Amino acid sequence: MSRKLKKSVAQYKDSFAFNTAINEFYSDKAGEEKHAESAVAARQRAAGALRDVSLPPLFKSVENSEKDKALKKLRDVQINNCIKCGLAKKRNLIVFGEGSSDSDLMFIGEAPGAEEDETGRPFVGRAGQLLTKIIESINLKREYVYIANIIKCRPPGNRNPEQSEIESCSSFLREQIDIIKPKIICTLGKFSSMFIFNEISNSVDGESIEFEKMGVHRGKIYNYKSIKVVPTYHPSYLLRNPSAKKDVWEDMKLIRSMLS
Ligand code: SF4
Repeated sequence: MSRKLKKSVAQYKDSFAFNTAINEFYSDKAGEEKHAESAVAARQRAAGALRDVSLPPLFKSVENSEKDKALKKLRDVQINNCIKCGLAKKRNLIVFGEGSSDSDLMFIGEAPGAEEDETGRPFVGRAGQLLTKIIESINLKREYVYIANIIKCRPPGNRNPEQSEIESCSSFLREQIDIIKPKIICTLGKFSSMFIFNEISNSVDGESIEFEKMGVHRGKIYNYKSIKVVPTYHPSYLLRNPSAKKDVWEDMKLIRSMLS
């Protein structure tokens, strides 16, 4: 088989695997039932968490690296009792972020939803399950990347975060990025992309970038300090617009090529 043909067969297999995984997710009735069960389990776990006021473990492994210690201190000392904005009043648990503090790849979303608020973990609802599938589609495991949001407390009714809330909370995300030092950030959706574009525009020597719409920015690589930024659609958008999955697959392939 020629090299060109081998390459196109490999690409076809990759694309097929991605589509199979994502299609399975969309059509997975059993998955929906599992999801419903997990929501119940999440509430039960949250009830326990409320009683002993304990947050979920930050890491899969023993927390012992300097980065892990710095993240734990940021969460426990600065964020856990934060009342810098009005979202503090109605939150159940803060949603700090989780994953490998040594990861080269960091995903940044927008804000916690109901299940995240109950469990204290990012991206555990239906959109989160899709994100996990997307991560696995490029042969990574969820626990090997780092996942966080701009906002650490749930906006009521899952409304969009307000600018004042983003401004109050964003110093925590900046600190998380500084500690983790990823090589690549994948911004999920409009709000995290806008946040990073603002950071780039306000940095010394940074180019000025205005967010237009995701279709304009996805598939491109931006530079934030020494980090490469790849914007893509938020998994919630993908749930509502399955036709965008081909674009997300292209963006994931781009990220995978940058990691290797
Ligand atoms: S959203 Fe952020 S700034 Fe607002 S209370 Fe929560 S942790 Fe503090």
